[in-house]
Amino acid sequence: MTSPAADYVHSLLASYPDFPQAGILFRDLNPVFAHAKAFRSIVDELVGTHVGQFDAVAGIEARGFLLAAAVGYAADAAVLAVRKGGKLPGPVLTEEYDLEYGSARLELEVGQLPPDSRVLVLDDVLATGGTIAATSRLIERAGYQLTGVGVVLELTALQGRARLGAAPVHAIVAA
Ligand code: AMP
Repeated sequence: MTSPAADYVHSLLASYPDFPQAGILFRDLNPVFAHAKAFRSIVDELVGTHVGQFDAVAGIEARGFLLAAAVGYAADAAVLAVRKGGKLPGPVLTEEYDLEYGSARLELEVGQLPPDSRVLVLDDVLATGGTIAATSRLIERAGYQLTGVGVVLELTALQGRARLGAAPVHAIVAA
């Protein structure tokens, strides 16, 4: 089934072979975000899909921040920034994980939300699932409930969804 947001993604998405390294087909969503109606339709679909199911959104650095800020504002929800390692001060939780290319570390500051807050995790692309799986562990270790995952694009061949838990995962486009 298609949607206005999916139509925009299909028509505006740019793909770059061998970036940032050989063998990776990089999917650039910046042209989608740079189109006002496309961006609004993405935010509307993410809010509408998960409406009533979250108190906070967690955006993953860096493109997840763009989605989280807009969805948080539109849904009157709190916004958490899940950052790459070494950028956050104070007490943090840390998770190491593997990427489609390389490995990385994500961090979340502790004590930002009341215990058991319902959190929707947002990112631009679901590839191998390592990034969102690591974020899910951070959310749960922080004492919150992961109640949903939203992405703009899911690369289904990489089977990232299988690495995620029971929370519903919504992809605007699966390719
Ligand atoms: P993964 O942990 O493999 O699911 O990777 C997801 C993260 O890496 C997202 O934050 C994406 O921004 C980025 N990413 C991974 N693979 C790609 C790709 N082929 N095109 C664009 N971004 C990607």
